[in-house]
Amino acid sequence: MAKREREDEVAGYLHAVSPIKISKSNNSYFVGKLQTDTNVFKKMVCFDQSKHSSFHEATAAKTPIKICNVRKVQSREDSAKVDVLVNAKSQMHVVRSLTFQHHADDNVDDENKSLADILHIPEKNKVSVSVKVLEVEKDTVVDVRGTLMQKQDILIADSTATMKLSLWDNLVNTLEPLKSYKIENTSTRFFNNVKFLTSTKETTAEQIEPIENVAPAPIKKENQKLTGNITQVNINKNITCGNCRKKATVDQTTLMFRCNFCAMKQKVTSTITTLHGNLNIKSDDRAEKLTIFHAQLTAFIVGQNLEDLKNDTERLEEFFLNKESFEVSFDDDKIIQSIQLA
Ligand SMILES: [Zn+2]
Repeated sequence: MAKREREDEVAGYLHAVSPIKISKSNNSYFVGKLQTDTNVFKKMVCFDQSKHSSFHEATAAKTPIKICNVRKVQSREDSAKVDVLVNAKSQMHVVRSLTFQHHADDNVDDENKSLADILHIPEKNKVSVSVKVLEVEKDTVVDVRGTLMQKQDILIADSTATMKLSLWDNLVNTLEPLKSYKIENTSTRFFNNVKFLTSTKETTAEQIEPIENVAPAPIKKENQKLTGNITQVNINKNITCGNCRKKATVDQTTLMFRCNFCAMKQKVTSTITTLHGNLNIKSDDRAEKLTIFHAQLTAFIVGQNLEDLKNDTERLEEFFLNKESFEVSFDDDKIIQSIQLA
């Protein structure tokens, strides 16, 4: 549980108030930042949507304010910080002045950037963009260090460039093709020599007036398909601690496990197992060396009712070698997107 502090009043300036969002439990809320000193920014979460317009106005006007009857809780994102929770009982008052000046958070770039600008911004910087959605891909479940997360890649464009944006969890399937959005607090990434954007817990998207005249989508390469037999295979099992997600060395003969990193004891069944591997596949006229990750391997295992082989990679490898023919589809990085018996 989050630790609760006793103070119940904060003073400062509001920044970056989000549009109203709907939580998984179907409550409306919005977030923002509260500058409580020259360089101190706290996350603010407000569960009372009737405060949205006054908070928005105070943000735009850079009004010095005090909010009474708030709860301060330990931040989930940074345990050294506190978050400020605002509810229907909280009251915002305008104060005459504060002992510090309104100051932009250097981590939040309130200014809209063009996609061409972003090509020159280093990794892991927060940026806001106003873009048109050109294409949306089907959502997938990916394994992020042992946690399964929903992800969806979309292609966005403005007048200067196109760029991939990876949406995670709450934002998956919320943006529609050909509509335009202001997307705030995305983060820049760089992978395989390509700059792209990813959503973070603070990312918000708000539909805006349609943007015309955007850069055209690049011509896409289709996934390749190959049908053949598997000539060599190596499947690896990775077990991680259910608490800290660091690598776990589990003695399969015991039922309990204590993590070397976080020292938490747990049942072996509480650890997380992921699989990945390499497959060499050969048809009459072609051979490929491919990589397969947990989600695709698991989809295959479940589809074939092979759950009992999940913990026995030797037998799983033999299953691949013993079957006549497989059909695989894979991308330009030789990563398998799907595999099935042919
Ligand atoms: Zn651990």
